[in-house]
Amino acid sequence: MTVWLFRDYPYQTELEAHVATSDDRGLVLDATIFYPHGGGQPGDTGMATFEDGTSVPVIDTLKGETRAEIVHVLAPGSARPVKGATVRLVLDWARRHAHMRMHTACHLLSSVLPYPVTGGAIRRDSARLDFDMPAAAADRTAIEAKVNALVDAALDVSSEWVTDADFDARPELVRTLAVAPPRGAGRVRLVRVGEADVQACGGTHVANTREIGHIVVRRIENKGRQNRRVEIAFADK
Ligand SMILES: [Zn+2]
Repeated sequence: MTVWLFRDYPYQTELEAHVATSDDRGLVLDATIFYPHGGGQPGDTGMATFEDGTSVPVIDTLKGETRAEIVHVLAPGSARPVKGATVRLVLDWARRHAHMRMHTACHLLSSVLPYPVTGGAIRRDSARLDFDMPAAAADRTAIEAKVNALVDAALDVSSEWVTDADFDARPELVRTLAVAPPRGAGRVRLVRVGEADVQACGGTHVANTREIGHIVVRRIENKGRQNRRVEIAFADK
């Protein structure tokens, strides 16, 4: 059982935790600040330092076989500590913060384009969302201006939990058809971006939209009659 700290403390970059299991998949710890790959957001990377001072790279973070487990994948050939040992995790913060900015920008994009989202992927300096939307809505300049206005509006980003029953009564909270909502223990996590957007989401986000900076809409591709792939990138790159 791993305690998930990355949702409530997305700005925490270091943590001391203990080994729950250690095997060929990697390390499962009793708690982590590393986000596991999912919902279109890549798994975190960084360093793990053991009691004897050895540091090894964490090259990916994945969900384990059960929801309660998060696996820190170590570089091939790395030494592995035993169960119960203390491990110090240090996040590759520059990469994770970029994911947080891009992820939050995707919320703004889905607010500007209020159509069903059929897929998406977040990378370090770009992201794409696939929308089930008409061609007429695919105006690159207009989308860019609207997203950047929401960045400039400096909207606070917050999260809250609702019960499964309340969530099921509000189908508008599911924006991404391709990804199951982040459920667990009878509740669902909602992420709210000012008045612009509220949806079920399990990812990591910046605290305020101004932290994203301006974005550009790099391209809009047709992926079928109703499907449009919108790709964004940071404007300062
Ligand atoms: Zn999100």
